[in-house]
Amino acid sequence: MTQKYRITLLPGDGIGPEIISVAVDILQAAASKFDLEWEFQEGLIGGAAIDETGKPLPSETLDLCRHSDAVMLAAIGGPAWDGLPGHRRPEAGLLGLRSGLELFANLRPATLLPQLANASPLKREIVSGVDIMVVRELTGGVYFGEPKGIFQTETGEKRGVNTMAYTASEIDRIAKVALEIAQKRQGRLCSVDKANVLSVSQLWRDRVEKIAQDYPDITLSHLYVDNAAMQLVRAPKQFDTIVTGNLFGDILSDIAAMLTGSIGMLPSASLGESKPGVFEPVHGSAPDIAGQDQANPLAQVLSAAMMLRYGLDQPQAASQIEQAVTQVLDAGYRTGDIMSEGMQQLGCKAMGEKLLEALAQQ
Ligand code: NAD
Repeated sequence: MTQKYRITLLPGDGIGPEIISVAVDILQAAASKFDLEWEFQEGLIGGAAIDETGKPLPSETLDLCRHSDAVMLAAIGGPAWDGLPGHRRPEAGLLGLRSGLELFANLRPATLLPQLANASPLKREIVSGVDIMVVRELTGGVYFGEPKGIFQTETGEKRGVNTMAYTASEIDRIAKVALEIAQKRQGRLCSVDKANVLSVSQLWRDRVEKIAQDYPDITLSHLYVDNAAMQLVRAPKQFDTIVTGNLFGDILSDIAAMLTGSIGMLPSASLGESKPGVFEPVHGSAPDIAGQDQANPLAQVLSAAMMLRYGLDQPQAASQIEQAVTQVLDAGYRTGDIMSEGMQQLGCKAMGEKLLEALAQQ
């Protein structure tokens, strides 16, 4: 029976419309192969929404998202809106989307495709074969804990304060997401904290241990965050799935991303308790190359694959899209950002056409 899904597309700004249109073509091709049917609806976000409505996230957009099975976002922002006050800037649209959909889990894979091993700043033998998923808690921890602010001490000195706080239930729900993701991967989960110093981390470790008892198929380990940062650079292949809090995850997911060396290749997903999740590339709107048919659409296409795997439970379709990406790279096709000697450089649209051909052959 045909499975129908309603997907909200948020192209946003800069290269957003170019790369999302490639991903939509790929999804259409996957639909006919896997008996899926898409109902796409488009919403405004970021600078495009500010220009049209004065707001970075109009309420109609949030409503569209809430009534869909998944949201595919491209990127927001650009110099035209940089002068606006914080709450009216394009970035406020992203934050509003995450809080509006209660997306508490951020998934950032760092997979090093062997064809791009030379793009990594680390030695090939260290990074070749790296396949890590960082699961970061997104709505708690030190970025949101109270009290926060800049206060005066009794002696009149200024004192800046943030509070790292997690409730047991916040830890439990991110631990469950991470354990379930580890089940879909190699079955190993490393929880990262600073339990030797921080009380909040001691609770984190206790709760993760407790929740993991319900997942006997998962091998759980723990690392302190300083050691985890070191290990990610020293021997990244030891990791499968990592789960950590908001601040540590912010830093570790960027380290993991740099292992791959190529920002145009990195997808991400943000998930809540129930549907819909938001699936988007890690990179920004690349205003320097917008409208020039130079953008690399692969992070967006791989985000569509994440949507199929983690948002819609269609792992076979996801795998075929990922294999199409591998095949196109194997055949030597590159966009400008990942170009190297002896390869053939393509624009965004032509890369999309090669992907469609590769998908048809799967
Ligand atoms: P960026 O990721 O947009 O670009 C950094 C560099 O990488 C640029 O040289 C760009 O051309 C290149 N690049 C990025 N994605 C590419 C792709 N798919 N193909 C080819 N090259 C690519 O980061 P930035 O320049 O710091 O920010 C530009 C705008 O994007 C800013 O307004 C920023 O606020 C916004 N931004 C948005 C998001 C998001 O939507 N999630 C994330 C980061 C930055």
